[in-house]
Amino acid sequence: MSDQHSFETIAIHAGNTPDSLTGAVVPPIYQVSTYKQDGVGGLRGGYEYSRSANPTRSALEENLAALEGGRRGLAFASGLAAEDCLLRTLLAPGDHVVIPNDAYGGTFRLFAKVVSRWGVEWSVADTSDPAAVRAALRPRTKAIWVETPSNPLLGISDIVALAEVARGAGAKLVVDNTFASPYLQQPLALGADVVVHSTTKYMGGHSDVVGGALITADDTLGDELAYHQNAMGAISGPFDAWLVLRGVKTLAVRMDRHSENATRVAEMLERHPKVSKVYYPGLPDHPGHEIAAKQMKSFGGMVSFQVTGGEQAAIEVCGKAKVFTLGESLGGVESLIEHPGRMTHASAAGSPLEVPDDLIRLSVGIESGDDLLTDLQQALA
Ligand SMILES: *Cc1c(COP(=O)(O)O)cnc(C)c1O
Repeated sequence: MSDQHSFETIAIHAGNTPDSLTGAVVPPIYQVSTYKQDGVGGLRGGYEYSRSANPTRSALEENLAALEGGRRGLAFASGLAAEDCLLRTLLAPGDHVVIPNDAYGGTFRLFAKVVSRWGVEWSVADTSDPAAVRAALRPRTKAIWVETPSNPLLGISDIVALAEVARGAGAKLVVDNTFASPYLQQPLALGADVVVHSTTKYMGGHSDVVGGALITADDTLGDELAYHQNAMGAISGPFDAWLVLRGVKTLAVRMDRHSENATRVAEMLERHPKVSKVYYPGLPDHPGHEIAAKQMKSFGGMVSFQVTGGEQAAIEVCGKAKVFTLGESLGGVESLIEHPGRMTHASAAGSPLEVPDDLIRLSVGIESGDDLLTDLQQALA
């Protein structure tokens, strides 16, 4: 796919070259571990062993690179596997990373409980404030890690401004683009060095696969990441790669509807007497609204809110929703509701990333917007 095509066309065609053997318009699931060689070292299609490369995964990786406007895409078994590969590629003992004060709980756990054991240092900063990030830099800061919008408080960080901070410090800017997806936001074009995805979420889009990805426009870094992907081995299997490749084809239409429904939900919640605060970057009074409007196409499908009545009231609302299914994860066509303090962000309790106990997070799906509003109103009643 050439750069001249628009996102929707790239999403459907990049990596989806018709199969050379049969003309199948969808890449087959190459459920295979090894490949016949024509004499020692005589590889037919460049494939020798499926940890190193597999044609179905290659199709997805080519697609992911194109969607983010990068040169190299790599598909992993999960978002955290992708993060682990990135951290072990970029960092050595004694190096330091600035991490956000609001982030996916598992990302925080990876820094606090896993890589810290290998001598990697980290500190927390409010990444919505570039001055705070600059103040957190140390001589051995090798990466600035950002989620925008962030999980679960939907904070917005200015990617252009942080790319400048990172460049000045000789550090890499890593953007977890899971909440926005490349349809709404393209961090590499804004100056980021690496994009991280949990493809489990909007990219897959149907709550039927766990996967992760790294994308970069830097060839040297791309080679190093690919080396580590093979050396460490947490690759996406062919069937999972195929599911993500399939999901991505409808990303644009899904994201449009997610954003439309989430805007209606956020506006309704803002007026609701039992809701004390709504977090949605599409609302004009959100502190990051202007930056979000500048760097995103629309504001996405995630909405968080606090209820009056404390933790017990929040837990009750989660239990009373019917169209919104009570469960972790996000980004699927079906709406989900959850209590971050007890569920997705339980591992951040007692840390600077702890979330309010009366907070509810919604992944607003693509069902009828009317049905979603009615369901939340009865759950709050
Ligand atoms: C889910 C998620 C991850 C982790 O991805 P897995 O696929 O669950 O390993 C990382 N970042 C964000 C923002 C997420 O929502």
